[in-house]
Amino acid sequence: MSKTKKILLDEKDIPKQWYNIQADLPEPLEPPYNTRAGRPATPDDLEAIFPKEIVKQEVSTERFIDIPDEVRDAYKIWRPSPLVRAAGLEKFLDTPAKIYFKNEGVSPSGSHKSNSAIAQAFYNKAAGTKRIATETGAGQWGSALAMACEMFGIECVVYMVKVSFEQKPYRKSLMQVYGAQVFASPSDKTETGRQVLAKDPDNEGSLGIAISEAIEDVLNHKNAKYSLGSVLNHVALHQTIIGLEAKKQLEIAGDYPDIVVACLGGGSNFSGTAFPFVMDKLQGRKPALRAIAAEPSACPKLSKGVFEYDFGDNSGFTPALKMYTLGHTFMPGGIHAGGLRYHGASPLVSALVKHKAIESAVVKQRAVFEAAVTFARTEGILPAPESAHAIRIAMDEALKAKEEGKSKTILFNLSGHGHFDLSAYDNYLSGKMEDYDYPSDKVKEALCQLPKVNSRVES
Ligand SMILES: *Cc1c(COP(=O)(O)O)cnc(C)c1O
Repeated sequence: MSKTKKILLDEKDIPKQWYNIQADLPEPLEPPYNTRAGRPATPDDLEAIFPKEIVKQEVSTERFIDIPDEVRDAYKIWRPSPLVRAAGLEKFLDTPAKIYFKNEGVSPSGSHKSNSAIAQAFYNKAAGTKRIATETGAGQWGSALAMACEMFGIECVVYMVKVSFEQKPYRKSLMQVYGAQVFASPSDKTETGRQVLAKDPDNEGSLGIAISEAIEDVLNHKNAKYSLGSVLNHVALHQTIIGLEAKKQLEIAGDYPDIVVACLGGGSNFSGTAFPFVMDKLQGRKPALRAIAAEPSACPKLSKGVFEYDFGDNSGFTPALKMYTLGHTFMPGGIHAGGLRYHGASPLVSALVKHKAIESAVVKQRAVFEAAVTFARTEGILPAPESAHAIRIAMDEALKAKEEGKSKTILFNLSGHGHFDLSAYDNYLSGKMEDYDYPSDKVKEALCQLPKVNSRVES
């Protein structure tokens, strides 16, 4: 008898609610901190740049939150996404472990980011927002948001870090196809951009500058809001559609994972994949479940960072968040997994690491690409370099199971496809790729720049 390959759900089986892990945390999250005012940030602070409903979700402790019909309808373009038994990879590894992956690369933008982009565009539309401004580094978030805004009839403005704008022209083209205006940042559209350019006309830009430009854009336009693609609680909430679907699919297969793996940039992809399973652990039903966040050695915030208040952006514009961080001024090396080059980890993921409910693992770039190529050759799908971090850890765990002679069930999330990343694959295949070690001196320096947060709220 041949093994099941894909486990598909019907459109009607798309979950009707997202899971909010704030309901099950061992203790409440510490709130964001407004360093300018010298006090914890209030919902009012956040409503200057986000719609009310999003701010409500950000602080909600309700366990399940309804997914609006309009959002479920838009999800139907690519959801439910397939859950796939990686039989080819299992055979190659000759492992007794069962490996499943959820394929989020089937979304129109090519990654999981569309799950939150659609929801954020919907809540903005409902609140009367006419224009959304955002920043993008490598371009995955910008393309997801551009497509979502087009669907809900909202103008989308993307400030794209200039060096990526020039090096990754096709992500820019995709955003423009979806009707977004894309500006290389620093741009001449904002005071921030003009000031940077006046001092240094050749400035290549940074996420910090792009965030300041996007926020300035929001403050200078009527009915404009800002949007963020990871890190925050509401983004993690929207992404739980991944794990909730996977759970239903595994149930059909008669399985439950021993290990759940996802890569971690800001943390939304890991949260979305793992939290619906971590719920079972926190509620005592699955005490042995292991959830592993895969990090690059060049930017290992969970494994090597400190758990402190820090800014979400490089310039210190955002409220400070209590999270594992390498310091907001830390600039990771130029690894090809652009989506993982972020200095901090979501406050929710950070709190769960602190409580030892989940774990992290560090992988080096060449081992990641070796896993990516193995996956492409055994499963046929070209993974995003970010996703390949999870593939590496899943493969290592499957090999460990083989050594121990144990059967284990491993689930990982394929957060995106790698069709825009072929120059990175070229670099690997031609033997030019380098490994980046953990840059302890640069981190030490950056950790001296953490903001001062004096009135810690005791919980
Ligand atoms: C952005 C991105 C990531 C990192 O996502 P986070 O949710 O910020 O952790 C991972 N994989 C892909 C394909 C991405 O585009």
